Amino acid sequence: MSRIETKCVQGGYTPQNGEPRQIPIVQSTTFKYATSEDMGKLFDLEASGYFYSRLQNPTCDTVAAKICALEGGTAAMLLSSGQAASFFSVFNIAGCGDHVVASSALYGGTYNLFAVTMKRMGIEFTFVDPDCTAEELNAAFKPNTKAVFGETIANPALTVLDIEKFANAAHAHGVPLIIDNTFATPVNCRPFEFGADIVTHSTTKYMDGHGVAVGGCIVDSGKFDWTAHADKFPGLCTPDESYHGITYTEKFGLAGAYITKATAQLMRDFGSTQSPQSAFYLNLGLESLHVRMERHCFNGQKVAEFLNTHEKVAWVTYPGLKTDKYYALAQKYLPNGTCGVVSFGVKGGRAAAEKVMKALKLIAIETHVADARSCCLHPANATHRQMNEQELLAAGISGDLIRLSCGLENYQDLIDDLSQALATL
Ligand SMILES: *Cc1c(COP(=O)(O)O)cnc(C)c1O
Repeated sequence: MSRIETKCVQGGYTPQNGEPRQIPIVQSTTFKYATSEDMGKLFDLEASGYFYSRLQNPTCDTVAAKICALEGGTAAMLLSSGQAASFFSVFNIAGCGDHVVASSALYGGTYNLFAVTMKRMGIEFTFVDPDCTAEELNAAFKPNTKAVFGETIANPALTVLDIEKFANAAHAHGVPLIIDNTFATPVNCRPFEFGADIVTHSTTKYMDGHGVAVGGCIVDSGKFDWTAHADKFPGLCTPDESYHGITYTEKFGLAGAYITKATAQLMRDFGSTQSPQSAFYLNLGLESLHVRMERHCFNGQKVAEFLNTHEKVAWVTYPGLKTDKYYALAQKYLPNGTCGVVSFGVKGGRAAAEKVMKALKLIAIETHVADARSCCLHPANATHRQMNEQELLAAGISGDLIRLSCGLENYQDLIDDLSQALATL
């Protein structure tokens, strides 16, 4: 089963004779065992099996296995949200007194998590311009740096990350590159093929695709050698006293250490688990991900081209446009399409942006993207409103930026709606 379209439809689950064709929803918090010894082995991670759905659930694991196959990883886990995935991905290898290098072009929620909340936990972040030179990037590292973090296509700045540049810098300093691949999805980009070590997703977006369930996922490539930098990653390379002295890298190898630790330790303690029902909905979305992404990208391209020539539009950002700053990087990392999100500004700035958005009829104002239904948002007033002007600029967001998520409707209807709204200016 080598091709991505087939993995979307059938990956992660191969029913045996007489078993359900669709993945079963195991709506059970707990699992029964004959003896306490049997259960003890599970708690000691001596045997694999389910005991409590806060840690693992068969439905969630089945869907995680599909996303793992899509990304080409060795292990994966579902989480309650993309935010939980971002948090776990970093906190699994960095703690109080540690440092992380991150691209400044990030989703607003991720920026807040890193710059405010995780800072309060004692983890320091240095934010770098995604377009910085290799020298500037190298200069951001410190002896206590534990990871590098960036987004394939940043939400909502739509900058395309030079994944190889960031991977090379991370590896030169003995730390992994974590990539939030939410906007691209593995259909359009598989960051592991360019040197990334860990991938995170807000599955709430294209993977679900229907605005049904909030969720997240972390996938490990299994390629980063924690043991070669054991002094930096004691949590993975020395005994975990909260799990009877298990050393994750010894017991589960490079393929399984990172995700096993995140499950056994962080999920146990934080409980940011996804429900089996949500995982089932997510799987329905994944079954058509490859079909939908093609249409999202087609509509995004058509709408971006329309806006790009419109006299009342000041600027358009869409990495699929030949005139876009990130076109060359998009051709390299996302040759089959980027995403359905287009960012643009209208002449007249912030106030004009508000007016256009009010006039839209088909395209709804929502705090969401990557839905089957087209929607738009004014980030400076919503998702990024906690940022000051300088931080907004660093994140690639101007006050007039409208983030437009092209759904699966007929593109001409989207253009007609935008056309009549722009005519009110
Ligand atoms: C939405 C989003 C998140 C956060 O995901 P939630 O599921 O809303 O918690 C993280 N990263 C990116 C790129 C996103 O678009």
